[in-house]
Amino acid sequence: MAHDLAILADEWFDGERLHRSPATILVDAGLVAAVLPGHQGPRAAEILRTPFAGPGLVECHCHLFLDGVETDGRRREAHLAAGEQAWLATGRANLRRMRACGITAVRDAGDRWGINHRLRAEAAVAAEPLPRVRSPGRALRRKGRYGGFMAEEVETAADIERALAARTDADDLKIVLTGIIDFAAGTVKGAPQFNAEELALLAAGARRLGIPTFAHCSGLDGLRLAVDAGLGSIEHGFFMDQAVLARMAERGVGWTPTWSPVAVMAERPGLIGLDAASVAGLERILANHRRHLALAAQWGVVLLAGSDAGSCGVAHGDALIGELEAMQAAGVPLEACLAAATAAPRRAWKMGAPLLAPGAAADLACWEVSPRESLAALRQATAVVVGGRLWRAEAAVAAAG
Ligand SMILES: [Zn+2]
Repeated sequence: MAHDLAILADEWFDGERLHRSPATILVDAGLVAAVLPGHQGPRAAEILRTPFAGPGLVECHCHLFLDGVETDGRRREAHLAAGEQAWLATGRANLRRMRACGITAVRDAGDRWGINHRLRAEAAVAAEPLPRVRSPGRALRRKGRYGGFMAEEVETAADIERALAARTDADDLKIVLTGIIDFAAGTVKGAPQFNAEELALLAAGARRLGIPTFAHCSGLDGLRLAVDAGLGSIEHGFFMDQAVLARMAERGVGWTPTWSPVAVMAERPGLIGLDAASVAGLERILANHRRHLALAAQWGVVLLAGSDAGSCGVAHGDALIGELEAMQAAGVPLEACLAAATAAPRRAWKMGAPLLAPGAAADLACWEVSPRESLAALRQATAVVVGGRLWRAEAAVAAAG
């Protein structure tokens, strides 16, 4: 019987381990049917030969309706008032940009208008294979506090319960726990938005809904609260310290370090007119992040790769690979970097079988260069498979005649 698809890879990654030997990956009815050693000669409707194949990548934190390529402050501001059609168009373009990098699943981190839910529905039935979208809908923030572009406001326990009851269509619960960073002062602006009792309420509500929690959180006050509440993952996590990190390992709290938005500011301070003191502050913040990233990998903290794409200068697709490069530069071993964008999120969010093995969803990607040689080369996938459906990069299609 002919298979739907066969991928003959020279090297492959299974979500945790790199295999420096050829394999044949067979796909039937949207699932991985077999992973056989060597290059077999299977009968299949489509046969792909590739230097490297692996699970499709997961972007663990982005904002689909925002355009991360845009760096002009006034135009970014105007986009927030551009309306549904413009936001949807941006989101569609972002999904294609991410697919081009081999991304087959994305977790949106909140938008105030629920464009993320609509893109999730569209992508699921699109004529072309697009990344699967996980959507929290609107995030939750304290009334009047940071997070206006992505969150709904709550104030009382009754508000929180109402907001939770309205989230039956959410894949995740996004909580805006702290404010943003004051780069020059090297602090987070304001106290945490929710206290321990409120966080417990949110965590219990998410458990009832059966969905993971993730919290925008930087600064020690917020980090301690998030870990004590046992939230699913900490997003950003700037100003991390060893005591918090050790408790994260102990309690299984994940960390999405979103290196990119801060790194962009350090590289291009002119974008938002940062002064020398702020740039020096940024460098210290990134150095601290780097140290704790390496420790997180050593101590077994669940690392999740998310770029916060949509932030100023943080482009969808491209920036996720940048996150992996930053992890590697900080001292995280290559396999752990790759796992942060494959098996780790699939396992943390219970998205089916986390490893590339028989029975797993056929969410796969092929590249021309092994990440052992260059993580940067992951920016150009030659083929992407979502639920067994094949998309090929135009250059690859052209080369094949
Ligand atoms: Zn974000």
